[in-house]
Amino acid sequence: MRTITPDRLRNVAIVAHVDHGKTSLVDQMLRQSGLFRENQQLAERALDYNDLERERGITILAKATAIPYDSYRINIVDTPGHADFGGEVERILRMVDGVLLVVDAFEGVMPQTRFVLDKALSADLVPIVVINKMDRPNARPADVIDEVLELFIDLGASEEQLDFPVIYASALEGRASTDPNNLGSDMRPLFDAIVAHIPSPQVDAEGPFQWQATIIDYDEYLGRIGIGRVHRGDIRQGQAVIRLREAEGAAEGRVQKLFVYQGLRRVEVESASAGDIVAVAGVGDITVGDTLASPERPEALPVIKIDQPTLEMT
Ligand code: GDP
Repeated sequence: MRTITPDRLRNVAIVAHVDHGKTSLVDQMLRQSGLFRENQQLAERALDYNDLERERGITILAKATAIPYDSYRINIVDTPGHADFGGEVERILRMVDGVLLVVDAFEGVMPQTRFVLDKALSADLVPIVVINKMDRPNARPADVIDEVLELFIDLGASEEQLDFPVIYASALEGRASTDPNNLGSDMRPLFDAIVAHIPSPQVDAEGPFQWQATIIDYDEYLGRIGIGRVHRGDIRQGQAVIRLREAEGAAEGRVQKLFVYQGLRRVEVESASAGDIVAVAGVGDITVGDTLASPERPEALPVIKIDQPTLEMT
């Protein structure tokens, strides 16, 4: 698989109150991504999202999902909408440049909408508001947009953030539009909004490699896997790295296995470039907050504290 350059990447987090449709939305995007990819290799397409998955749909969101669209890779990371233990949401938001705020067209703004939006705005992310469930007979998109705007103002959104684009969608029916009165026939408007509005990662692609473990995943065969964004330079399989851990200092290691996401799967790759969200295995007991860096310049990335559970809401 070819290495994707930062300008072709879009990293977004998906945030919402529970049941407003995050899972359904990502599922539809996955289902439809194949439709818009005439110029991609069939093998890649087949790997993405197999027929069985297509039939069942996804029922829980993966920690990271990558969706190919035209020549872009859209990395979508899930965020817990519930009570935030130890800065998990903040950490995840540091991997991305924008957020999709999903709001039910009938229910409108709910406590978790506020909780996650507050964190996204504080992290200076570019928001796209997705008013979902437009197919509901009692949908009231105009009121809900008013509520969302009020919430943005209340949370002290910047002028740019207040100018958020809105996509109206029915994840259930797989349709989206910029026009609440005419939903169109596919999800393309949502893909286009992501490509147009979310900035590509602003990273130094040429510098010495630097990456931070943001989420830890487990695999039966590979053991602990760190998921995170490449902050600087290229990462290569087999590469010697320095692992930097707060309070413990430096240790030598090697990137045994490197993966990017393709649909719901991890796909092994030789290398990945700055800005991409990758999974790294085989660097011992990798832990949240660990930095892996080139021995050339072994600098740690700042760690978000995880020792204080914050129970801001129930
Ligand atoms: P999540 O908790 O945000 O991931 O929400 P889900 O995607 O699991 O959806 C919660 C419920 O809302 C499920 O029963 C979905 O079928 C339903 N749902 C999701 N999107 C839509 C939609 O566009 N229209 C309607 N009518 N229902 C939807």
